[in-house]
Amino acid sequence: MRISILFVLLALLGSCTAQTPEKKTTAPAGNPYYSRTDTTVLQVSNATWKKILPDSVYVVARESDTERPFTGKYWNFEGLGTYYCAVCGNALFRSDGKFASSCGWPSFFETMRPTSVTYKQDHSYGMERIEVNCGRCGSHLGHLFDDGPPPTGKRYCMNSVVLDFVPDATGN
Ligand code: FE
Repeated sequence: MRISILFVLLALLGSCTAQTPEKKTTAPAGNPYYSRTDTTVLQVSNATWKKILPDSVYVVARESDTERPFTGKYWNFEGLGTYYCAVCGNALFRSDGKFASSCGWPSFFETMRPTSVTYKQDHSYGMERIEVNCGRCGSHLGHLFDDGPPPTGKRYCMNSVVLDFVPDATGN
């Protein structure tokens, strides 16, 4: 009898300790392509993404929509950690590459890795802009401008809804 109680206690303890850090790296429900470690380039159709992604993410990521300024969850956010692609989990930016911009969208002066993103000329709306896309899944993230701070002088103007922030481990 005592032994079985001990097993129950051990099982409960195990289920509690296994949760916290791992949970942050778990893929969103129903998205088999999401990984924060796999850097394989994805070729997934919009029809498939449409079934997987929330509408708010899909319209920005796959239809190049732009969220309204000063409305996203990260434009005024200063947490320490890493920003991943909300579509596929690709590591995009570190918080120390982010700066306080008055534009109303989360702004960064550098990407985490040169391959984190890809670039494309964007002629839409009568403007000449550089579109920034995820280097793994090709999703639209935002645009790149030349009015950022040193050392790069770049401003990666991103949409919060396609970013997925994970705070640094606090060491406890
Ligand atoms: Fe992605």
